[in-house]
This record gives sequence, structure tokens and C-alpha cells, in this order.
Amino acid sequence: MSSGAYDSTNIFAKILRGEIPCHRVYEDDDTLAFMDVMPQSPGHLLVIPKEASRNLLDADPAVLSRLMPVVQKLARAAKDAFEADGITVTQFNEAAAGQTVFHLHVHIIPRYEGQAPKPHSGQMEDNEVLAAQAEKIIGELGN
Ligand code: AMP
Repeated sequence: MSSGAYDSTNIFAKILRGEIPCHRVYEDDDTLAFMDVMPQSPGHLLVIPKEASRNLLDADPAVLSRLMPVVQKLARAAKDAFEADGITVTQFNEAAAGQTVFHLHVHIIPRYEGQAPKPHSGQMEDNEVLAAQAEKIIGELGN
């Protein structure tokens, strides 16, 4: 079954074009990372390639090879910044698999022993809280 074409009106494409704001934690020529507005745990962030693709299924492998080192760098930074016991990395492909925003993105979610994460796409976090969490990760990247 066809999954459709990339739609450049998706919300992450708008973030990449600067049309809507985000709590940015990292950017390079190929990649942007910012806080998830409905975090499943404090420090939940998203890493996206700048190049357009709906998800993993239609992405250029060369894009993936530049994306994953950034995912690793940010997973390490989030683990340290939030003193997490572990990090869950998730990535959904198409609506049937739970994808709601159709620009490739990787979730980085700090986790703690014995604590379940909040629901996916659950409750919106306050802007000030997200800004403070972004600063914490940025601070860790600087170390
Ligand atoms: P999914 O496509 O299922 O992997 O999830 C999309 C994620 O994007 C959800 O966790 C949302 O909370 C998050 N999200 C939606 N809109 C925004 C936004 N404007 N800024 C940051 N995160 C967002």
C-alpha cells in the first residue's frame, strides 16, 4: 500500500523553515534537534534531518548515516543532563505504526528504573519548562 508523498506543510518542515518556533538544542548543516512539546519524560527531544523524507522508509541512506551520530551525541547528552538510568530511542513509520508528523524524526526519551514513560503525544508541556530543559542539554553538549 502506498504511503503517499512528502507534504512540505508538515509541522517539522515549518520548524525547519523558521515559520514556527521550537526549543532548539542542536543544529548542524544536515540536522536539527529540539524539545518535544508533549514530552513522555523530562528531556524528551526530537532529532530530524533537514532533508525531506516522510520517515525511515523513503529516506536516503546517506541522510541516515549523518543523522545517527547526532542521535548518539544527543542521547548521551540527555542521559547526563537528566541523570537518566537509560534512554529510549523511538522512530515511527506511517500512521499505522503511530507516526503523527510526516517528516522523519527520532525520539530521544530519558528513562528511569521502575518508571513508565508518559503516553506518546499526551500532554503539552509549559514553554518555560521546555526552555529550561533545552538549556540543560545544551549545557551538557558544551562539556
Ligand atoms: P510521531 O510522529 O508519532 O513520532 O510523533 C510526533 C511527535 O512530535 C510527538 O511526540 C509530538 O509531541 C511532537 N510534536 C508535535 N508538534 C510539535 C512541535 N511543534 N514541536 C515539537 N514537537 C512536536
